[in-house]
Amino acid sequence: MVKVTINELVCKGCGLCVRACPKGVLALSKTKLNAKGYHPAEVAVPEECIACASCARTCPDVAIRIEKD
Ligand code: SF4
Ligand code: SF4
Repeated sequence: MVKVTINELVCKGCGLCVRACPKGVLALSKTKLNAKGYHPAEVAVPEECIACASCARTCPDVAIRIEKD
């Protein structure tokens, strides 16, 4: 099982992680706004995640955590 956690408070909605994901797992929220006024990234299709950590490496704000068990 892979768990992708995005810290929505830190996320600035830049979309780099969305583009970095080879499996289309992530998306910017169309509805949510965080306290900074950004649409944060969210895990749209968690079952597709292959735990490559590309998103976490790409995020300039270190907002993504990948846990694998
Ligand atoms: S770990 Fe890889 S597959 Fe999973 S969300 Fe991040 S970039 Fe996508
Ligand atoms: S790369 Fe980081 S800051 Fe940018 S949208 Fe993704 S989680 Fe948010």
